[in-house]
Amino acid sequence: MFSSIKQFINTLLNIGFEDEFGNDLNQKHVVNFSYIIFCVGCLFLIAVFTFRQMYSITILSTLGLLVALVGLRYNFIGHLFRAQILMPIIKIFQTSILSLFYFGTESGFHWFFVNVIAYALVVFRTDRQAVKYWVVGISLALFLLCELTDTNGLYLNSTDQELSVILVFFAVSFNFAMVINLVISRLKSVNQHLRILAEKDELTGLSNRRKVLADAVNIFADSIINRESCVFSIVDLDHFKKINDTFGHEAGDLVLAKVSAMMASVIRPQDEIGRYGGEEFIVIMRGTSIKDAADIMEAMRRSVEDMLIETENGIVIPVTISIGLAAIDPGVSRYEEILAQADKGLYVAKRSGRNRLSVQSDYQN
Ligand code: GH3
Ligand code: MG
Ligand code: MG
Repeated sequence: MFSSIKQFINTLLNIGFEDEFGNDLNQKHVVNFSYIIFCVGCLFLIAVFTFRQMYSITILSTLGLLVALVGLRYNFIGHLFRAQILMPIIKIFQTSILSLFYFGTESGFHWFFVNVIAYALVVFRTDRQAVKYWVVGISLALFLLCELTDTNGLYLNSTDQELSVILVFFAVSFNFAMVINLVISRLKSVNQHLRILAEKDELTGLSNRRKVLADAVNIFADSIINRESCVFSIVDLDHFKKINDTFGHEAGDLVLAKVSAMMASVIRPQDEIGRYGGEEFIVIMRGTSIKDAADIMEAMRRSVEDMLIETENGIVIPVTISIGLAAIDPGVSRYEEILAQADKGLYVAKRSGRNRLSVQSDYQN
């Protein structure tokens, strides 16, 4: 029940969104939210003042509601600026008319101008500075006018006005808190997205060098502290330059992507793999003996050798990999040392004919 309400609200807030991480950050969310809250407010006014037979407010609120629906539709069909600008216009009109003529300035209704100002500051960015200052300026001027003048209003007696002050206080606070919440949660999700982008290699989809080396540091430290075995491995595609030269750079990219996907599918969930650079990869296998690690990497070598990667013309590109492995041993104090040992293993594997693996660790655990 609660989750379906949350889902419904999310659907409303996401009206008109095509790209989850587009440039507009939280603007569309705030615009949608403001329209929805405005519509709810109009419905509330329609209900209350129809009940009290004060039909001019009913008519005014119905008009406001209809214009708000137009604004929501603008956001939905992608006219973002029209949607953005219509909101403060109808809100300024509604707040001024209700505050100055119908409810009286003692009702506190003019505090809704504060919401309009917050809206303008969040929604209008550098490319719409002029609009932002106009909306803020007009709202501020009208707010001061309402503060300084003392109109009684047509419809509310003093008890009504006291009640109105309380309602307005809660509505303005809620609106304010929600806008801040929307901005923060949107920034959080964009941050998360940027972090994933910063850690991912675009071509292969694997962790990039920065991420895999950061993982290497952490896993190495954990393994030393917990006295667990851990194996580092470096993988390099054989004669990759020749693949590029023979089939073209694009085919080379395709090979890199396909081989990466294959390697990622061979390792276990607890293992880490990342692109070290060019056609070189690092695999980190924590809590694993050198023998088990060698079995996993041998399976990887065979899987890559058996791959059938075809060019657009249907020619099969033969691909093999060479692998160097090294395990943490008691004498090692920095992760770079075991990486260097694995690299030495790779060199040996290359020198002894490629398409094979070489273990560079005397320490069997
Ligand atoms: P070896 O078996 O000794 O490793 O030979 P190799 O040809 O694989 O090694 P070498 O280091 O001579 O060449 C690596 C090539 O990988 C050179 C470079 O142009 C290519 N390369 C590096 N990154 C990419 C990439 O992202 N895409 C493509 N298509 N090629 C790349
Ligand atoms: Mg190579
Ligand atoms: Mg290389």
